[in-house]
Amino acid sequence: MATAAESATVQALRDVMQRIQQASERANRPVSSVRLVAVSKTKPVKMIREVYDAGHRHFGENYVQELIDKAPQFPEDTKWHFIGHLQSNKAKALVTGVPNLYMVEGVDSEKVADHLDKAVSGLGRPPLKVLVQVNTSGEASKSGVEPSNCVELAKHIEEKCPNLHFSGFMTIGNLDYTSTPENFKTLASCQEKTCRELGIPMEEFELSMGMSSDFELAIEMGSTNVRVGSTIFGAREYAT
Ligand SMILES: *Cc1c(COP(=O)(O)O)cnc(C)c1O
Repeated sequence: MATAAESATVQALRDVMQRIQQASERANRPVSSVRLVAVSKTKPVKMIREVYDAGHRHFGENYVQELIDKAPQFPEDTKWHFIGHLQSNKAKALVTGVPNLYMVEGVDSEKVADHLDKAVSGLGRPPLKVLVQVNTSGEASKSGVEPSNCVELAKHIEEKCPNLHFSGFMTIGNLDYTSTPENFKTLASCQEKTCRELGIPMEEFELSMGMSSDFELAIEMGSTNVRVGSTIFGAREYAT
């Protein structure tokens, strides 16, 4: 179908999609059970647009202001994911600035959940999907609940936040953003425990785990949502 030469970014997207398909096959899972979030933080709108024009819709950003600036430059059917730690005082700006926000991956406290819930109420939009971020590495980290507290925060969102839809868990892995099989196993055991205690069907539960260096392993270990940035868009350059 492609007539003009595809950009390197679109080729990289297709390559990642193919690797997702192969990993799904190895795990005996339908490829439709895994969502690819193209993590576009720090990348220019023009480059992200190429990926949109190739048919991709799910994009992830992790700076609130950057997402608020970018979102209006894309069609309404773009599905934005806010990934990583969110400060509670930015919840309102995020939700009002991005009307087509699809999911927040990274609620790590009741305070953030309550701020998001309040921000969504009255907007006339469907409940916002949220994933609870779990610190699966045991490293002292500023974000993510301890695995032993995963049910508690999930329960709070289910019972006290009517404008949010608790949809599962996410993990970043280790502090340096690498993951080990233990990180993925810990998240999967949080899933089992939470599904059992809150009566949520396992099939309706999301596990967001796996990034550029480990998304195939994550899929083999049950991920439903992989967040891939640099493998699609190239290494990020941060002005420091
Ligand atoms: C940046 C980021 C990613 C993507 O990382 P890559 O290694 O570039 O694929 C995934 N998840 C979160 C939370 C991120 O901040």
